[in-house]
Amino acid sequence: MPEQLLEVQHLKKYFPVKSGLLNRTTGYVKAVDDVSITIGPGETFGLVGESGSGKSTVGRTIVRLTDKTSGEVKFKGIDVYNLAPQELRKLRPRMQLIFQDPYSSLNPRVRVGDAIGEALLDHGLADRGEIRERVQEVLASCGLSAYHIDRFPHEFSGGQRQRIGIARALILNPDLIIADEPVSALDVSIQAQIINLFRNLQETRGLAYLFISHDLSVVEHLCTRIGVMYLGSMVETASRDELFRNPLHPYTKALLSAVPVPIPKLKRERIVLKGDIPSPANPPRGCKFHTRCPFAEARCREEVPDFRDAGGGHYVACHLV
Ligand code: SF4
Repeated sequence: MPEQLLEVQHLKKYFPVKSGLLNRTTGYVKAVDDVSITIGPGETFGLVGESGSGKSTVGRTIVRLTDKTSGEVKFKGIDVYNLAPQELRKLRPRMQLIFQDPYSSLNPRVRVGDAIGEALLDHGLADRGEIRERVQEVLASCGLSAYHIDRFPHEFSGGQRQRIGIARALILNPDLIIADEPVSALDVSIQAQIINLFRNLQETRGLAYLFISHDLSVVEHLCTRIGVMYLGSMVETASRDELFRNPLHPYTKALLSAVPVPIPKLKRERIVLKGDIPSPANPPRGCKFHTRCPFAEARCREEVPDFRDAGGGHYVACHLV
């Protein structure tokens, strides 16, 4: 049995840019550019970055919703990209993806109980006779009631819909859930409830999560390790405590400076980044962050910094560290 549940090595995902009358490929959007992640059983890895950093593409490429350009994805030691369609189908229940807006993936004319139960039928994991009971069990574990089973999606609030999204993933008894911005569309008080639900489910079921968010304060409460992405590349990874105590990359420092803290005297000086994230179709040379970095030097514009261990498994890509 491999030690790691998920091993992603040097993952790249480039989307071709087509133009002209002949629709020729004239370039590539480097959405994911050499990203490595490992997640152990029952662990939570937080993947953080601004919109456009490529973090959602990482999640979709891991579960093969979109194909990789290169690199390796192993789940329980099995190369996900070496599986025949039938084998991949068998593996799918073990790795589930939860989206920001579960409403868009629910058919408004299908009762919630049927929407949750159909995944079991699709994968041949239960008989029709036992579905209702299984759905009720999973609804209860997600904080919903038995009578919700016959309701339609429009009858639920945003927080309840996210609970339905979680129930739909959970009923397949996965080992890993990839949650892509699962609380971003919710009010702060509801966010806390859903994060608590994720945490409780982890404790009772031993689930592992890849938790994708643009908000460091959200991943802080759930994750044991955190990776920060910028323009398709990982710029820093460390344990949660180390990252919050000792952020090394200027981009991480800027993100952290925006995180509210309960004790005013611990407040970090706010670092406001200049401009928007550049286009991944035309990323800056050298360090991709140099166009917005307050500490950029001449060599930052030419040389790509190595992603290296700064000590104790705290990895960072910056010439100044
Ligand atoms: Fe800033 Fe240079 Fe470090 Fe990049 S390598 S983060 S530009 S100091």
